[in-house]
Amino acid sequence: MLAQARSEMLEHVIDVQSECFELQPTNQRLLAEAQAAGTRENALKAELQQIQNHTADITNNYEFRVGGTGSSYYEAKTPDPASNARAYLCANCAASGKKTFLHRAVLGSHYVCSAGHGNIQL
Ligand SMILES: [Zn+2]
Repeated sequence: MLAQARSEMLEHVIDVQSECFELQPTNQRLLAEAQAAGTRENALKAELQQIQNHTADITNNYEFRVGGTGSSYYEAKTPDPASNARAYLCANCAASGKKTFLHRAVLGSHYVCSAGHGNIQL
């Protein structure tokens, strides 16, 4: 009676061990997925922080303007202390999360976005 109970108990232990063994690949896969999700979450948090920093920089330091010809750009709220000139940003770049300073064209009075958004008339 006792020997039979012991035998049944051992069979049950072996079954549980087998199931544990079969579950190991699934467990490892889920662990790897959790780690990948954590890595992705951290990357997304960093990306969100970068977007928030960009938005705060544009909002705090620049004003949206539309030039006489319909060109849109951002103008620095405060002038550069050394030259007393104001910096200008490309509005299309700013809208896509980039900060591109506009430079005055060598010939003409327009400004140019180096990222390829064309000529901008202030
Ligand atoms: Zn641009």
